[in-house]
Amino acid sequence: MLETTIAGSLPRPDWLAEPEKLKGGWKLEGEELEAGKRRAAAEWLRHEEEAGIDILTDGEVFRRHFVHTFLEGIDGIDQDKKTLMGIRDDRYNLEVPTVTGPVSRPKPVHLEEFKYVRSLTKHRLKFTLPGPMTICDTIADAHYGKRADMAMAFAQLLNDEARELVAAGADVIQFDEPAFNVFFDDVNEWGIAALERAAEGLDCPRAVHICYGYGIQENLDWKETLGEEWRQYEKIFPGLNASSIDQVSLECADSHVPHSVMAILKDKMVMVGAVAVTPDRIETPEEVAETIRSAMRYVDPERILPCTNCGMTPIPYDIALGKLQSLAAGASLVRASL
Ligand code: ZN
Repeated sequence: MLETTIAGSLPRPDWLAEPEKLKGGWKLEGEELEAGKRRAAAEWLRHEEEAGIDILTDGEVFRRHFVHTFLEGIDGIDQDKKTLMGIRDDRYNLEVPTVTGPVSRPKPVHLEEFKYVRSLTKHRLKFTLPGPMTICDTIADAHYGKRADMAMAFAQLLNDEARELVAAGADVIQFDEPAFNVFFDDVNEWGIAALERAAEGLDCPRAVHICYGYGIQENLDWKETLGEEWRQYEKIFPGLNASSIDQVSLECADSHVPHSVMAILKDKMVMVGAVAVTPDRIETPEEVAETIRSAMRYVDPERILPCTNCGMTPIPYDIALGKLQSLAAGASLVRASL
């Protein structure tokens, strides 16, 4: 009960990549770089095990970016044809690669790194992939014409990738869909259908992570505009509760999300964000426990998975480590009191 997990990403150590940046460049090259990624993943797995996290991830330390690294392994995308695009409904502008033909996956993208990580731990391992809608909101389209059509094409590739990861021992597959908190009509018209297509037939729990983004300035500024109560989840949770997805995440720590929205997810496991991903402070175990107890007013403890609000890539290494430790310790406090 109250098994802990994390949204996915953790900081890459400063000897491996430029720290505290979303897409910080690698500091090593060639075989040294590959060895460095493996060492960084192994170190995070040990930290997670020692902290007492139940369902681990590799910290996504093999990737420079949670969407673009997957897309670099996909054909039909011109990585050099950059298009300036407003991301997440123009929250920020980025130069992104362009889809110029039908997308295909010539070979597995993440399988080799996953097999290595799998060999390092007996604990349950979650593997995270970008969701189809968020992919479509992170890349330009000069081929499909309709986002819904492009999303379905990517969903098929994600499903192929995920099936191989499950066969190699992944215990949970999670699709990251921050775009779900922005395009409510699209989510209900085709976003959830594309997500279900990506998750179809996987022989393990299938999760979706939906958040208000990394603790970076653009997102903090956006959050300032969202008002006193953040009710975005309310628009998509009914559709998700009716979907075939098993686990749904939400931000709860230090956020304006009314915890009552969790009541909508009455048939799902709920990943309750119980630590924030801003770098200013580390929550105490008591604060984590308080957030979990608040969630328990709406969700039975059997259905709660205490989690981080979002990924922790852009925050300092030691702060992320402290947050992991508090997350596990806070869940233990609640378990002990039940
Ligand atoms: Zn997130």
